[in-house]
Amino acid sequence: MNEKACLPRITLGCLGGTVSMQAGLPGTGVTPQLGGDELLAGMPQLGALADISTVTLCLLPSASLSFRILLDVLAWARGEVERGAQAVVLTQGTDTLEESAYFLDLLWPCDVPLVMTGAMRPASQPGNDGPANLLAAVQVALAAKSQGRGVLVVLNDQIHLAAQVRKTASLSIAAFESPGWGPEGSVVEGQVIFRGASVPRKVLPLPKHCEHRVALLDACLDADSALLQAIPTLGYEGLVVAGFGAGHVSTAWSQALARIAKDMPVIVATRTGCGPTARATYGFVGAEIDLQSKGMHMAGRLCPRKCRILLWLLIGLDDQAALPGWLAH
Ligand code: GLU
Repeated sequence: MNEKACLPRITLGCLGGTVSMQAGLPGTGVTPQLGGDELLAGMPQLGALADISTVTLCLLPSASLSFRILLDVLAWARGEVERGAQAVVLTQGTDTLEESAYFLDLLWPCDVPLVMTGAMRPASQPGNDGPANLLAAVQVALAAKSQGRGVLVVLNDQIHLAAQVRKTASLSIAAFESPGWGPEGSVVEGQVIFRGASVPRKVLPLPKHCEHRVALLDACLDADSALLQAIPTLGYEGLVVAGFGAGHVSTAWSQALARIAKDMPVIVATRTGCGPTARATYGFVGAEIDLQSKGMHMAGRLCPRKCRILLWLLIGLDDQAALPGWLAH
């Protein structure tokens, strides 16, 4: 009997990134070159675990991925599940992995795991982490306990939730963390261990339109408000501010934001990288009580970049009214 027929069916979609990178010519910088078949060929052990088919969806540095590409990736991954895949694994660059994982997680309606991974060292570099990350991602994808958890990000033998994960180091192998939350699980000697059971998920329908734009600006010391004031004139339909500390801005920004919040949804998040925004602690102009009274939404635990994705999807559904419920989720 065909041995493959007994194995679970997994599909591997490749988008590019460092995991696929090597130098074209000696002495030149690395660029994405290895597609799905080449990645799989570098990891022959995977053939004993699953019947894996591969598709090279694109070969891009992750800085050049887009919401449009991710919607195509989502459609492809859903199609693979309909065609019988028991899990889907995606490889992409790590630079924007925290954003694409959350984007796909908000729209992933299946119990079947969608597992994302990448690498910090290019495929051509000694000690590259791509093969080990791919192996761990496939092990997580195959585990029954991974069902119903949405999009999982697997790197460095850790499993992270899409809503929590952040890239917190530029070049270290241990570049991913879930600050203030911790990894959701780990892979130890090939065993997939989660720290708790899966919890019910909220998923969004597909956006009805995609041409709108949401801006993201960082609060910083002594910033003028010229860029802020220009936001409505530039055609943006939503704004996220990465605020100081617990979600704070200057007096001048508070005034400018109050005007903008009359015309579009404004979310104020924290630029600190860890912890929630406050709701009812600080009373100065530019702090959370003032900002909420002027119509702004506090982000809670959601980081500024993920806030932008949530807001973009809700505007695409004409459902900005759902924003407070999602931020409280
Ligand atoms: N360090 C990044 C990576 O892991 C650079 C390139 C990219 O994000 O595509 O893939």
